[in-house]
Amino acid sequence: MLGSVSAFDAAKAGPPSGVLTIDIGVIRDNYARLCATVACPVAAVVKADAYGLGAGIVARALSADGCRDFFVAHLDEALRLRQTLGPENRLYVLNGILPGGEEMCAAAHIVPVLNSPEQLGRWSALAEASGRKLPAVLQFDTGMSRLGIAPEDRAGVAASLAAGHLDLLFVMSHLASADAAANAQNEAQRAEMARVREDFPGAALCFANSGGIFLGAPYHGAMVRSGIALYGGAPMADRPNPMSAVVRLEIAVIQTRTVPAGTLIGYGGAHVAQRPMRLATLAVGYADGLPRGLSDRGAAYWGNERLPIVGRVSMDSMVVDISALAPDALGAGDMVEILGPHQSIDDLARDAGTISYEILTGLGNRFARRYRDMDGATVSEAT
Ligand SMILES: *Cc1c(COP(=O)(O)O)cnc(C)c1O
Repeated sequence: MLGSVSAFDAAKAGPPSGVLTIDIGVIRDNYARLCATVACPVAAVVKADAYGLGAGIVARALSADGCRDFFVAHLDEALRLRQTLGPENRLYVLNGILPGGEEMCAAAHIVPVLNSPEQLGRWSALAEASGRKLPAVLQFDTGMSRLGIAPEDRAGVAASLAAGHLDLLFVMSHLASADAAANAQNEAQRAEMARVREDFPGAALCFANSGGIFLGAPYHGAMVRSGIALYGGAPMADRPNPMSAVVRLEIAVIQTRTVPAGTLIGYGGAHVAQRPMRLATLAVGYADGLPRGLSDRGAAYWGNERLPIVGRVSMDSMVVDISALAPDALGAGDMVEILGPHQSIDDLARDAGTISYEILTGLGNRFARRYRDMDGATVSEAT
């Protein structure tokens, strides 16, 4: 027989190996900044647990600030959020509905983004059968070839919409290159979307993601959808980041050591000390979302001092060079900075050869999490 499994009591947790601080107040500031940048409503993209930061707490905070529209990727994410958000908030599912999900979607007042004539057909059929109009967003493929109705299907879709079973809230598309203002794909997609709108006269447009917001008014339409900019990531890869940093990540030192020149460091002996070195082993690894691509590349910070990662990042630990510090400067239990004032999610992503989105969504669940609100007070703590 298996014994009963009781919930882990966070109050009885040991000293944290890592502390992830998420500043909800800064997310709210970033939201206000985006609202001031566009003339239309800003919807919050809270898919993948709000890029790993906590969809429930983020959505509640933004809803209190007047955000009414929330996008997730899957129906299950929307059903879960439905329990925390009131009926004044609209919830949209970017991936649309898989066969069999229509009834639940309708019952929970969730709006599917319909990406194909097939999805449209199933949603319309439910509306017709139940005798009530159902809300929908229609997504069009304007050049990304990922999700959306193809150009050759537009006429058929317009005809089936004319049957009047659905309430079309928006026509929508997604920009593939919005983080690069000079990329010609942006204008090509904008022009294609203008052609879509000719087929759906009067329909409201939902087009821009975070990057698209900064491409300017021709990309805004009647509602924009922002994810990464809310969470402090740079919306444009080639411009200074106008958003403020939301996360801090501090990691405990487990032990320090001094090694002579010639010492092999980490798995594979991939790093050979070129001189005597002082090393610190940190309690974080790729299982916590610190990409293995940071091996011998990235860094941690102690105050203003950069501590380069030496050797390979392990699953639960990694080694940094602390030779530049005074011999007793750092010891077991001290917390060094991985993300914070000295290193942004974009900095870490660049060193790892990835993007800020992957850094945020990859941050693991072994850190103690602290949520702060406007006044800097800890509003919630979870491990
Ligand atoms: C994820 C996503 C967004 C949000 O993109 P950001 O670049 O994070 O602002 C918007 N629209 C769609 C369709 C998405 O998949």
